[in-house]
Amino acid sequence: MSFGAWLSELNRVLIVFVPCTIAGLASGYTVMFFIIGLIAYGLWTAGQMITLKKWFDSGAPVGNAPEFTGIVDQLVSGVADLQRQNSARQSSLEKLVSQFNELTAALPDAVIVLKPSGEIQSSNQAADRLLRINPDSDTHSRITQLFRDPSFTEYFVAGKFDEPLEVQAATIGDKELSIRIIPFSEDRLVLIAQDMSQTARIHEMRRSFISNASHELRTPLTVILGYLETLSGHPKLPEECKAATYSAELQAQRMKQLVEDLLTLSRIESTALVAKESEIIPVGSIIMEVVKEMELSTSTHRHDIRTRIETDASLKGDLQEIHSVISNLVNNAVKHTESGTSVQVHWKVADQDSAELTVADTGQGIAPEHIERLTERFYRVDAGRSREKGGTGLGLSIVKHVVERHEGRLMIRSELGQGSCFTCRFPAHRLFLEDQ
Ligand code: ADP
Repeated sequence: MSFGAWLSELNRVLIVFVPCTIAGLASGYTVMFFIIGLIAYGLWTAGQMITLKKWFDSGAPVGNAPEFTGIVDQLVSGVADLQRQNSARQSSLEKLVSQFNELTAALPDAVIVLKPSGEIQSSNQAADRLLRINPDSDTHSRITQLFRDPSFTEYFVAGKFDEPLEVQAATIGDKELSIRIIPFSEDRLVLIAQDMSQTARIHEMRRSFISNASHELRTPLTVILGYLETLSGHPKLPEECKAATYSAELQAQRMKQLVEDLLTLSRIESTALVAKESEIIPVGSIIMEVVKEMELSTSTHRHDIRTRIETDASLKGDLQEIHSVISNLVNNAVKHTESGTSVQVHWKVADQDSAELTVADTGQGIAPEHIERLTERFYRVDAGRSREKGGTGLGLSIVKHVVERHEGRLMIRSELGQGSCFTCRFPAHRLFLEDQ
């Protein structure tokens, strides 16, 4: 409160009380005149308060403030200042909100704010295009009632939003959508849906290009390899050509393996899960078969391969694919470790009636920074060494895809100097037991 306001208030008190005091002293009725002064001052102040209340009741319009003096005038100008600040803040907030709305409207992805129950709080224009959710008419409806996709409903109800959901929405022209839900406050979720149709098309084009190119390469390579095999086994092959022919045959074999692996990969990448009813795979017998083949191969007979088949559970899936998982893992254990290393292949029932196929070796192990990337196509810890051993860099990528196509999970543990352990865990509903 300014000093001037107090001074003008004092001035008013003096204006009322000085004449009253003089009149009181002159007439001898000092107390009576003092009371008259008090009443006059009280009435005047009450009048100011009534006017002030009326002004407040009318919303305290700044430009329409009544004339006040003294402290009340100070109060009114304080209120007016606060109002001016508030309206400046409000207009900057409105500007922000409208900028935010323009931004979400311009986004190519659908953005929907939801309550945990699924009630829509707000949505942008892309939500209409991608999910058929109208920002004007669908607010406060439940998202699961508007976007009726069974996998989305299951995903939303489960409430596990760590991974995005990929859906092919038949209701909206078979669009490939990637849906992500992010909790952003105690009682709000934001759903972001991205149209992946273009990416999926490019992915499909890349996959079919690799598949076609590999197909085209397969036949000429088989012919070249056939000639080279005949040539290298020919008794009249001049001594000076033997090394070159052997090397050419080895490289042709590598190329053939690469083409086969690329074909396998593009085939298993193109389809989703392997149907449960496709085949019953006796995993134990396949393990024994692969290990026998491995032991018969001259280059690998110096490894100590042991098998432990603890369950006679079979797997529902694709026999050729599971065969390639086992042979890739056992082959890797042999290929990437020193001779004399012990390798253990284990098939057992694990937690929650799932089953585990484990291939463990006591080789040199893999440094932790490589483990995450081992299943990437063509990723090799030591590319030169892998090539030397006939590796294509696609083996673990194939293993991961096959395991996932059988609803399983590939887990890799390794420690430098201790060895590596590759585990494929398959869920109980993928297993088949004789007495079932
Ligand atoms: P590759 O054809 O080179 O074997 P993979 O995809 O099967 O390709 O394996 C990727 C890389 O992982 C290998 O190049 C190798 O460096 C490493 N690796 C795989 N298995 C083992 C293992 N049992 N011990 C050590 N390193 C391994």
